[in-house]
Amino acid sequence: MDAPTAYAIGVDIGGTKIAFALIDPQGRVVAERRAPTLPAEGVAAVLDRLAEGIAALGAHGGPVAGVGVGCPGNVHDGVVRLAVNLGWSEVRLRDALRERFPDLPIAVSNDAAAVAIGEWWCGAARGCPDVVYAAIGTGLGGAAMSGGRLVRGASGAAMEIGHLPAVPGGRLCACGLTGCTEQYASGVGLLSGLAARRGEWPDSLLARKPDAGTADILDAMRAGDPLALALLHDLRGALTQALVWCAGALNAARIVIGGGLGRALGDLLDLPGLESDVRARLLPYVGDGLHIVPAQLASSAVGAGCLVWAELGSSPPGPLSTRSTA
Ligand SMILES: [Zn+2]
Repeated sequence: MDAPTAYAIGVDIGGTKIAFALIDPQGRVVAERRAPTLPAEGVAAVLDRLAEGIAALGAHGGPVAGVGVGCPGNVHDGVVRLAVNLGWSEVRLRDALRERFPDLPIAVSNDAAAVAIGEWWCGAARGCPDVVYAAIGTGLGGAAMSGGRLVRGASGAAMEIGHLPAVPGGRLCACGLTGCTEQYASGVGLLSGLAARRGEWPDSLLARKPDAGTADILDAMRAGDPLALALLHDLRGALTQALVWCAGALNAARIVIGGGLGRALGDLLDLPGLESDVRARLLPYVGDGLHIVPAQLASSAVGAGCLVWAELGSSPPGPLSTRSTA
């Protein structure tokens, strides 16, 4: 008789909520739950909530192969070196979880990297081991896999695409550099663009809205507001440049676009147009096989769970097209 199916527990730590998912080896969600992050209560309190959620899903039934955790910020070798949204620095996350769950393998990674692994394992990049992932959210994050391995970099900071230069001498970024891609291609970027370019369009209704947020900007884009369309143009231009550099340098076959704002922008991003713009700036034998697709994972916690399968060295389920013959 075959061994019972093992499950992985995925945990995605966000600034406001922690998402937990129990997944099978194909990335299908068996159970999930959420908890508030409440980072102001301190690291120990957040760790307690993590442990509580992991224990609850672990009690769901069936053997648990391990726990994968995705965390924002600079994560290297199990240590969250800096996560501004959480107010964390040098938090030994993997060790802290090992203390609580000594029998479970624990994998910890940057959140974007976890999603990239998940998209490769069971999502939009399934069967494609050379992939660039861009997460357009409040900020702009990224991750990449080359030959089926995560590109980590010397300090775990590979693919920090939000802080690649987009505009020489451009807007000042929170990181201290100027003209960062994130200052144009993210929620923060749309808001700073609105503040900086408001005066250029006296006929814009958006320009006259004092407390406009990201959702207002998206509505204005859909209504054809000239200022909003200029911000969309800036966003696409900066994003295109970053993707050209990353996909060109890595000879990626697929770019996956995700993140909350990426989803909300939807057809405004015009992925087929973005794909031809990126391809047009690459050598034919680099760009010809490149496709840009929207993210597919049901939850970022699924990507974190896929860290377990990937780190344990299982073979991925394979491309969707061949799955039925496997
Ligand atoms: Zn920056």
